[in-house]
Amino acid sequence: MVDVIIAGGGPTGLMLASELRLHSVQVVVLEKEAEPSGHARALGLHVRSIEVMDQRGLLERFLALGKKYEVGGFFAGINKPWPGRLDTAHGYVLGIPQNLTERLLTEHAIEVGTDIRRGCELTGLSQDEHGVTAALADGSQLRARYLVGCDGGRSTVRRLLGIGFPGEPARAEWLLAEVEVAAPPETLKAVAAEVRAHVRFGAAPHAEGVYRFVVDAQDVAEERTVPPTLEELKQRLWALAGTDFGVHSPRWLTRFSDAIRLAERYRAGRVLLAGDSAHIHPPMGGQGLNLGIQDAFNLGWKLAAEVSGWAPEGLLGSYQAERHPVAADVLDNTRAQAVLLSPEPGPQAVRRLMSELMDFEEVNRHLIEKITAIGVRYDFGNEQPLVGRRLRDVGLKRGRLYGLMHGGRGLLLDRTGRLSVAGWADRVDYVVDSSEELDVPAVLLRPDGHVHGSVMISRICSASCLAGSARPPAEFTGVVGSGVKLVAVRCRNHVIRRRRLLGIRVTAPRAAPIRAPQKAPSPPVSRTSADPGRGATEDTYSTFGVWALTVSPTRIGRGAWIFPLPPGALLLLTYAM
Ligand SMILES: Cc1cc2nc3c(=O)[nH]c(=O)nc-3n(C[C@H](O)[C@H](O)[C@H](O)COP(=O)(O)OP(=O)(O)OC[C@H]3O[C@@H](n4cnc5c(N)ncnc54)[C@H](O)[C@@H]3O)c2cc1C
Repeated sequence: MVDVIIAGGGPTGLMLASELRLHSVQVVVLEKEAEPSGHARALGLHVRSIEVMDQRGLLERFLALGKKYEVGGFFAGINKPWPGRLDTAHGYVLGIPQNLTERLLTEHAIEVGTDIRRGCELTGLSQDEHGVTAALADGSQLRARYLVGCDGGRSTVRRLLGIGFPGEPARAEWLLAEVEVAAPPETLKAVAAEVRAHVRFGAAPHAEGVYRFVVDAQDVAEERTVPPTLEELKQRLWALAGTDFGVHSPRWLTRFSDAIRLAERYRAGRVLLAGDSAHIHPPMGGQGLNLGIQDAFNLGWKLAAEVSGWAPEGLLGSYQAERHPVAADVLDNTRAQAVLLSPEPGPQAVRRLMSELMDFEEVNRHLIEKITAIGVRYDFGNEQPLVGRRLRDVGLKRGRLYGLMHGGRGLLLDRTGRLSVAGWADRVDYVVDSSEELDVPAVLLRPDGHVHGSVMISRICSASCLAGSARPPAEFTGVVGSGVKLVAVRCRNHVIRRRRLLGIRVTAPRAAPIRAPQKAPSPPVSRTSADPGRGATEDTYSTFGVWALTVSPTRIGRGAWIFPLPPGALLLLTYAM
């Protein structure tokens, strides 16, 4: 029995395999095609995927084969300048065809020890409380503790699980062709520009002597699983452009539609879905491959934790809780883009209005953050703006942050030098660095680079005091990471100087990625201490229904206490004005 079977060796499956291997999980990828296709559906990577590659030390390889573009125009093709002040160190699109992305991901997966089996089609599966049995087309079987369906939009795994795939069926279809042309490039360019003024029409050089055409598939064969023919492509070109440009020697002919669907759930027992098997949408904005890679990035470390036995209750479940809404949002933005691309007068009027709005920098930036996925924020049940977001790469005294994340471990980045990861050092790295680029005292990053907790007390303190709006009791909040000792430093404001601290309350996050030590169960109460400065203060609380923890601050000086806190705990300091 292996640890994990991944059905499907596309970008999602390959990325997931490598993420699991970083944690020494035994992985077998089953890919039904005997050879890589060599064709490109997706043409590039957006910011968040570029960051993901950087976080795993793969970016140099992608940059070597790709091309950077600083162009707007993702949203419904409305072209606007690349917004300034984008919160990333990688403010560009990386043009790289999907076949090259798959090649690089395959190479990496093999380097880290993935067993990729080509020409192996999964045809059936069954599961029990101990594992999953995959049936293969050649009649053999393979058993694993978990199985992930990364087998694309027509997912066999999803169908076998009986997971619903509701949404909107295709209303329009397009032909996609990679072909050689006889017409001179200037003619092709001029005619294509003319046609594009009236209808959606794609004709662009793709590779040496090869053009990539995208044309609507009106009057093309109904049967969607059968690839279109060269004759059908020629017919559509004649109908739309009045010429077929002398297309010949097709490299690839396929079709795609504007169907939009989202799996009802991402998990059934020991089987999960990721990438196109969980969501499909039209390619507006070029998001599908990116979304799949980011699904894999979210799922990898959680599934590895589950396999390794240290995942807390609910960690694997948080994969769906975090990624399903992200996919729903992508589906929605493609719906909106599809409307804006309609040639009808109403949508065209809205498109003009949208274009005007996008001249506002904030609107432009908001849309780019959506499409590039750097605006994604997971709901960790915490109001702090940083918590739940991915942290951009920041310069540290000893290099760059992302350079420290290649191993796929959690990371506590501490500017104070007073925190620790005692108890969690086997899975969380601890880095003390006084980088000025980081504007919080400390952050705890998950293996996928999202901020699980940050120490914000001093900042929020001063913000509250400046606002002057706080009346008793005012609250300061701070979130800390696993096993971290949070130092409540004496603040230089009148309230703390007069030591009017009324209480300390520690509440638990809704989910924590790291299991806290099992303690005796206790009732779910949250008491507020009377005065932490005087003697013993105890806050007992329960979280996830199974464990409880006692917080006993130690006074370390005038107005300063140390609070040992559990992973992701929320600290409230309450004081009188
Ligand atoms: C025209 C077009 C343009 C696009 N442009 C972009 C773009 O610019 N940017 C972007 O981000 N996305 C784009 N996309 C979307 C992108 O191509 C997909 O979202 C992406 O390929 C999904 O990756 P995946 O690994 O989840 O699934 P897939 O790429 O579909 O991979 C699934 C794999 O599973 C294998 N498989 C299937 N069934 C089985 C089975 N039973 N057993 C074993 N193996 C199986 C398949 O052979 C395949 O290799 C575009 C899509 C289209 C159609």
